[in-house]
Amino acid sequence: METVVSLSRKNLHKNREPSEKWKFIQKHGRVCKKCGSTDGYNYLLDHIIPIGVGGDIHNENNFQILCDRCHGKKSGFDRKIMNELVKKKYMTKGILKIFYKPIEECIEYYKRRFKELEDEN
Ligand SMILES: [Zn+2]
Repeated sequence: METVVSLSRKNLHKNREPSEKWKFIQKHGRVCKKCGSTDGYNYLLDHIIPIGVGGDIHNENNFQILCDRCHGKKSGFDRKIMNELVKKKYMTKGILKIFYKPIEECIEYYKRRFKELEDEN
């Protein structure tokens, strides 16, 4: 089976930084950071700390390559935590976010909850 490296059209549009992301994927190759798979069909570039909770969009230290499966799972956690942050009034919902609490607090909350969700699963 032929493997491909790709970013979805949606992600390219959303982040408007295709060249940075492409460079990162080309440099690091098709290896899932989470499960270590190299034989998946599709690999995506993920922001470790999601941009939506204050993660850095440009810093390579916030990038990781994930397979479809691991990326899907992480996205589920990300959505869940973001909803919690909105509910707890850390920030508003929607694309243009307004943070009511410092970004650092949002990131701390994200990290803690992400670890908890991972441990539960
Ligand atoms: Zn994986």
